Amino acid sequence: MSQTEILEVAVLLVAALIFGIVIGRLTKPDDPPVFKPAEPAPPLPAAEPPATRISIEAMVDPALIVAGETVLAANQAARQLLGERVIGRDLGMTVRHPALLDALAAAREGLGVDREISGIGPANTAWRLRVEPDGEGRALILFDDVTQARATERMRVDFVANASHELRTPLATLAGFIETLQGPAAEDEPARQRFLGIMATEADRMSRLIDDLLSLSRIELDKYVRPSERLTLAGMIAEVGAALQVRLDADQRTLVIEEAADLPDVIADRDQVLQLLHNLMSNALKYGHTGTPITVSARPDPDGGCVRISVADVGDGIAPEHLPRLTERFYRVDSQRSRTMGGTGLGLAIVKHIVERHRGRLEIESKLGEGTKVSFTLPAAPGADGAPRHGTATEAS
Ligand code: ADP
Repeated sequence: MSQTEILEVAVLLVAALIFGIVIGRLTKPDDPPVFKPAEPAPPLPAAEPPATRISIEAMVDPALIVAGETVLAANQAARQLLGERVIGRDLGMTVRHPALLDALAAAREGLGVDREISGIGPANTAWRLRVEPDGEGRALILFDDVTQARATERMRVDFVANASHELRTPLATLAGFIETLQGPAAEDEPARQRFLGIMATEADRMSRLIDDLLSLSRIELDKYVRPSERLTLAGMIAEVGAALQVRLDADQRTLVIEEAADLPDVIADRDQVLQLLHNLMSNALKYGHTGTPITVSARPDPDGGCVRISVADVGDGIAPEHLPRLTERFYRVDSQRSRTMGGTGLGLAIVKHIVERHRGRLEIESKLGEGTKVSFTLPAAPGADGAPRHGTATEAS
């Protein structure tokens, strides 16, 4: 046997010996079993403030943990809402809101709370307050800001109410005249003609309103779909002008078109651009003074990357306090005047939505006694080299 072989045998013997000892020990009847059933884990320490803070700190909305009424932890949003010193204090004393006090009392009895409250934090903020007790005297308090959701809900309700009201008025007029024509005016030919004329006007108003409502909902449906069509603007202002020619002539108005010679193409929806121009030029016609010009210009925007189109009139103008609200549905400065001129109160709301869909900007400038200029931008199409166009304006009247 060589020396290496002797060494190998020795190693094997030692290994076998150790294995034997271990097995022997394992199988010894009086030894306690090695794999004991697991000891019950020691109870977790009570929720410690640092760990608690970590978990609620990740929440965006205000969240607090209270023991009874004492605040154990408050995340950043809660500290911002209720003050940095809220931690360690009595929440009922710090906030003193009856609904919150009720919620804390309910939580002490182990009852959860889920209700809406206001009067905490900035004015008009609406909160959904939820209190989840843990059954051991502590509770998680969550505030969800539902202000925006409530505002949207109110807008929807107002919109339906306004639309119904706008439709009901001409409908009531139509119903009234039908009754008159069936009764007292049945044999009165001149009255019949006059009433039929009024009825036609009211029917037109209803159909315009329905058209505008449908346009608005169609535009809203496509809100997140960016237009992809490449569009040449040159000639489109004149096209809308031709459609308005009869009304322009009737009010002795002239249309001045200022189109830059090197106007870049834009990325836009053709029908919607025609609607933008139509609504704005039609407003300039309705609210501008008889015999004055309406100036429509299209030129590359000085900021670059887009084209700016403006429609300006000479008219009474709009007081500054109305400007921020003009694009709200059915908002009118002078309702009677708008209705007499055939307005639906939706023209500028449609304009705003179309411009937003094109990721453009809308600006309304007005001076009382002078007139109004409404401008919007559309994204310029990339030039032949793929780069955005920045051409300089050379005006052609
Ligand atoms: P309307 O159908 O009533 O014209 P719009 O949404 O187009 O509705 O406009 C809202 C309101 O803004 C109008 O009722 C009018 O009071 C005011 N307005 C819009 N354009 C002009 C303008 N060019 N000059 C003066 N007032 C305007």
